[in-house]
Amino acid sequence: MDRLILHCDLNNFYASVECVLNPDLADKYIAVCGSIDDRHGIVLAKNYKAKSMGVKTGETVWEAKQKCPDLVTVRPHGEYYVFYSLRVREIYSRYTDLIEAFGIDECWLDITNCKHSGSPQQIADRIRNEVREQTGLTISVGVACSKVYAKLGSDLKKPDATTVITRENREQVVYPLPVSDLLMIGPKTTNKLFNLGITTIGELANADEQLLKRYFGIVGPQMRNNARGEDNSAVRPNGLERTIKSVGHGTTTRVDTSTLTVAKKVIYTLSEMVATRLRRYHLKASSVHIDLRFNDLTHRSHQCSLTTPTFSAGFIADAAYCLTKQIWNPSKDLPIRTITVSTTKLSGTCDCGEQVSFFEHVSRKQEKIEQTVDSIRHKYGFGSMTRALLLENNSVVDKYCNEEDLLPFRR
Ligand SMILES: [Mg+2]
Repeated sequence: MDRLILHCDLNNFYASVECVLNPDLADKYIAVCGSIDDRHGIVLAKNYKAKSMGVKTGETVWEAKQKCPDLVTVRPHGEYYVFYSLRVREIYSRYTDLIEAFGIDECWLDITNCKHSGSPQQIADRIRNEVREQTGLTISVGVACSKVYAKLGSDLKKPDATTVITRENREQVVYPLPVSDLLMIGPKTTNKLFNLGITTIGELANADEQLLKRYFGIVGPQMRNNARGEDNSAVRPNGLERTIKSVGHGTTTRVDTSTLTVAKKVIYTLSEMVATRLRRYHLKASSVHIDLRFNDLTHRSHQCSLTTPTFSAGFIADAAYCLTKQIWNPSKDLPIRTITVSTTKLSGTCDCGEQVSFFEHVSRKQEKIEQTVDSIRHKYGFGSMTRALLLENNSVVDKYCNEEDLLPFRR
């Protein structure tokens, strides 16, 4: 029996999430851009309206505004992108366990043994509708017997559309497309193929296998198989840890930080945010990283490994504070403007390969407490519980940080 593979691609993912968060943006020309102050004023993503004015990913905000004077620029909100990516993945998981993420906004789903009834087109349409109704985001879906064709299919009709590619329609739908549309065929290979007189997928599909082997080695026949939709690579389920490389949180304090006492409070507050997010993503971290940006905008960073992977704020904060003391001496060094705590070397919380440490029971207990805190905060708001360390006088949030900067998620 033929396999049934879907490729689901979130349309204009970053810009679409920004519009869900702020519906006023929906009918405007939107570009998600790095901060201009930090000299990162580059377009990271745009919506269809901005695209129609010629705005391109990677160009400077200045260039984009020349083409589209009404362009509204918004700062990226990475944590929300991960949050929505997870929500959408959760919808996919109602249909199959075989989900392979390809970046933050694309997934392959093997639905060969899907429990839901209906034709492949109907299942794809149902997933598409659920994503739209439950998240406000849209996806394009490609349906085919191979990963390469499914991916190709999701590119053909956008936004919010399903494209089915079959053996019967491939000659009309796929064969006229340029070879460069195929997964894994970059500009170099495209040029080489061009020299052999091959410019379309159809020409590659019908090319002489021996000729391709001579020019490209073992990859040649593989490319031909891909072009014919006969690649048999499996959908390999992967966890979010493959997509998310780090989880971090930083803030520029209201007043420059010049004592270890204040730095400690900010670090503990930031670590709470980081840990809450790790728990939400069902991830644990094995490495903690601190970055201090001083008031002359130079910065210093340091990192360390943890003996046991954790999603506990306490352990992350302890490590981050320890690192801070190693690289910053308030009596000698400049005051700190921005503090960022991040975690890397992430693994899934249900990984059986997790190393068991002597302190295992201590960390398990700590994690249990923090999970309980999560559920209380979920019910009564993030500020309903806080560490004693952060309690005295006014809270860190009132005194040093902007509340907006410190919310792990919009409630
Ligand atoms: Mg996309």
